[in-house]
Amino acid sequence: MGMAITRPSFLPRSRQRRLAVLILAVAIPALALAGTGIWLTLRVARQVEAESARYNAYLADKVIEAFERELVDQVQQALVTAEAVSRTGGDAEQIRRALASRARLFEAPQFVPLEQLEGYSLVTVDGHLLIYGEDPSGKREHPFAAMLLNGPDGYSIGAGGWWFNPRSFLATHLRSVVVDRLPSSPRMYGGLESTRHLAITVLDEDGHEVAHVREATFPQTARTAAMSGPFEGYQVRISATPTSPVAFADRLVVIEVIFIALLSIVMIGSIIVGSRYILRQVELVNAKSSFVSNVTHELKTPVAVIKLAVETLEMGRFRTEEERDKYLRTITRESDRLVQLIDNILDYSRLEAGQRQLNLQPVDMREVVNTAMESFRLRLEDAGFKHEVWLPESLPQILGDSRALHHCLLNLLDNAVKYSKERKDVRVSVGSRDGMVTLSVADRGIGIPADQQERIFEKFVRAETGLVHDVKGAGLGLSLVEMLVRAHHGRVEVVSTPGEGSTFTILLPVWDGGRGAPEV
Ligand code: ADP
Repeated sequence: MGMAITRPSFLPRSRQRRLAVLILAVAIPALALAGTGIWLTLRVARQVEAESARYNAYLADKVIEAFERELVDQVQQALVTAEAVSRTGGDAEQIRRALASRARLFEAPQFVPLEQLEGYSLVTVDGHLLIYGEDPSGKREHPFAAMLLNGPDGYSIGAGGWWFNPRSFLATHLRSVVVDRLPSSPRMYGGLESTRHLAITVLDEDGHEVAHVREATFPQTARTAAMSGPFEGYQVRISATPTSPVAFADRLVVIEVIFIALLSIVMIGSIIVGSRYILRQVELVNAKSSFVSNVTHELKTPVAVIKLAVETLEMGRFRTEEERDKYLRTITRESDRLVQLIDNILDYSRLEAGQRQLNLQPVDMREVVNTAMESFRLRLEDAGFKHEVWLPESLPQILGDSRALHHCLLNLLDNAVKYSKERKDVRVSVGSRDGMVTLSVADRGIGIPADQQERIFEKFVRAETGLVHDVKGAGLGLSLVEMLVRAHHGRVEVVSTPGEGSTFTILLPVWDGGRGAPEV
């Protein structure tokens, strides 16, 4: 199956394989290292998060303890008068009045005699018995907070306390609990320093916020603890703020992972580019050394043939006029070959050095073909080739250098002759398509394997398989054609099937009549 290739294109398969091996050899360890780096970074980040979450859970418990102690302190302070009254033997009414005088922190003072304490609950906070309970009448929605009161003989006589609203208590005291009580707690480690970057929120039974200290914006490590006793149903939630170390570590991890990923991309990219470059250089060195021997051979062969023919003629060693003409034709043919080879080498080095200027004129491609066929006909006939030229009746002109185009066509024809075996058949055709003038040279020769079709346009490169090694060449012809055609803003395409033949097509833009000369 034939394949149309437009230059420039991809690497051939053999080079792709070598490149792939090289890349794998370096890229896999590089990727493994990068992967390990990312994995370690993520592990550290997870560890920091776990530590932070543990600390938040610990702190939530501490906040709850601090609230309980705050409540006990407040109740204790407020009870002082009632306690004094009970110790001096006052009755329930006197105790209630004493309670009422200190009721500003709480609501509705109450004295509950011991025999009525059933239904109340007890909690110990710092060795103090805190009593609380729902109002048995069910009229109030707030719990009761109280402490035991002792009579003059030292026995407990009942509890004195107040109805209070845990919601407003929590809301009012959160800041002082967090700012004053928490850091001074003997059971608190880390102190103020470590709570400074934490958000502390009190939530009610529905999860709605009651109060907060600092805005919680980093929920990953948030921990919640349920309150009990008089604060039953409420929760304390601790989470990090964006200034906390865990948030900082989290941001750093993202940056670090991006950094490692970018580093790997840059590294792999440079490996690919570097390997391609090195491979190319190695191939060029190889190609150059075979170029020297090929060129030497290419130059020697026609010289030897010419020398032999000249000697034969000089010595008069020919029998007929026809035989003499044959030798003369050989001399002409071989000198043409020599000139073409030398032209190729010179043109190529001039083009590469940027010294070759194209002389651009409006050109009729049919004329280029006619002149080239005239000079090449002898060679075709001598080699026993059938040839056919197809030219259209009318053809748009192109802006080109006819000498350069002539040279291109000769190179394509030369290849068609060199790379054909039994089926000696060359067809040259001119046409136009999509605003381009086309010039095709088709042969029925050995063809070019698909994976070599792009490379043959590179300098010194010759196809690796097939018959080519029997045929000498410098590997410059097609690269020269390609360079010259590109200088004309055109391109070269090849369609070839091994064993069936090849068609090389030069496509050049139609001259629009006014465009400036292209640069070489
Ligand atoms: P050279 O012919 O001196 O080797 P070229 O640059 O002209 O150099 O061609 C490069 C290679 O492309 C050739 O060595 C040959 O393998 C392949 N090639 C070119 N033209 C043809 C063709 N018409 N048929 C088969 N192979 C070709």
